[in-house]
Amino acid sequence: MMNQEEASWRLERDTTLSQARSIVFKVGSAVITNEQGLDETRLQALAAQIISVWRALPSRKLVLVTSGAVACGKAILAKFNKDYTIAGLSAKQAVAAIGQAQLMHAWDRVFQPYTQPTAQVLLTREDLHARTHFLNIRNTFAELLDMHILPIVNENDTVSVKELTFGDNDSLASLLVNLVDAELCVNLTSAQGVFACDPKKDPHAKILTHIEDVANLNLTEMCGSKTHVGTGGMYSKLRAARRCAQLGVPTLILSGREPELISQAFTPGSTLGTWICKQKSPIPRRKYWLAYQDDPQGSLTIDAGAAEALLHGGSSLLPQGIRELTGDFAKGALVKIVSADNELGVGLSNYSAKELLEIIGLKRIEVAAKLGNAHYPCVIHRDNMVLHAVV
Ligand code: GLU
Repeated sequence: MMNQEEASWRLERDTTLSQARSIVFKVGSAVITNEQGLDETRLQALAAQIISVWRALPSRKLVLVTSGAVACGKAILAKFNKDYTIAGLSAKQAVAAIGQAQLMHAWDRVFQPYTQPTAQVLLTREDLHARTHFLNIRNTFAELLDMHILPIVNENDTVSVKELTFGDNDSLASLLVNLVDAELCVNLTSAQGVFACDPKKDPHAKILTHIEDVANLNLTEMCGSKTHVGTGGMYSKLRAARRCAQLGVPTLILSGREPELISQAFTPGSTLGTWICKQKSPIPRRKYWLAYQDDPQGSLTIDAGAAEALLHGGSSLLPQGIRELTGDFAKGALVKIVSADNELGVGLSNYSAKELLEIIGLKRIEVAAKLGNAHYPCVIHRDNMVLHAVV
């Protein structure tokens, strides 16, 4: 007999896999490249399986996020015997430019036997940063998806500036889930799924069939520190999955290395990979965009009373509850909200750091005396705040 939790995630998995109207697939470099460069056999196997998922529900909209430009570029340089050391950001950007064309060409080629056209979309984080740009790109995706084209997306590494990169393609995929209103994210990786603990420390570590409450997982404990994994790695996959869960979208983390695995995983009753359940009360899509379109530019430390009011009273953040701040941010910037060393969330500040320094800790009447009547009563309005943000 299945217990209630077991029955509930299995039902969520089976229903989502068979009915999701829009899916973002993400494939990492480690899945599609080897020492020689692109592994075309693996690309063919992936294309065949993605097509079979599509044919099972042809009205479905699919997006594929692929890494591999840098790995391809390196292999091309090595092939032409170019004695070139890839050091620093501009070298990596140049190598990505070399590899991206081959990467895209290879993907397009493996979908040709299925008469499935593809489209290349290269994005920088800046493109999703301004709300109007975000909405423009959303319209372009809508057109492509209506035309039954497969958009193949990568970060535009060649022009991305260091301060505004997605960081990794897991993060890019989590933003695309919002952009295209996806109902599922499938993250194809080199591992079989998520290990219960570090397999390097415990060789008997088991793959988790599911994660019910990804928000309460201690990612650092489970996957090591953030810096340790840099781009990619399980940390960034779980971080992306946690964001998707917040939006009400589950994630399947699955090996992309075996020929039939995706098709098997989509079969009802399968427990292959790790299923990461969606959060029961999702945040609105605009708030999701707001929390993740930028890196926080500073932080506001608030007192216990203000923290209680935000967490349990549904309140906005008032000047009175703020104790100190860091960063030199402008009005409208995204900032972290911190209390007693806990990161409570993020939000858009109605005041610049300079203005805030004048008014933190003050009551409304004192703020009015300093700034006149045309001031904002709150520093961060509730509508512009996301608690438990995954930054
Ligand atoms: N955009 C990078 C590439 O195509 C990969 C980033 C990542 O692996 O997350 O090589």
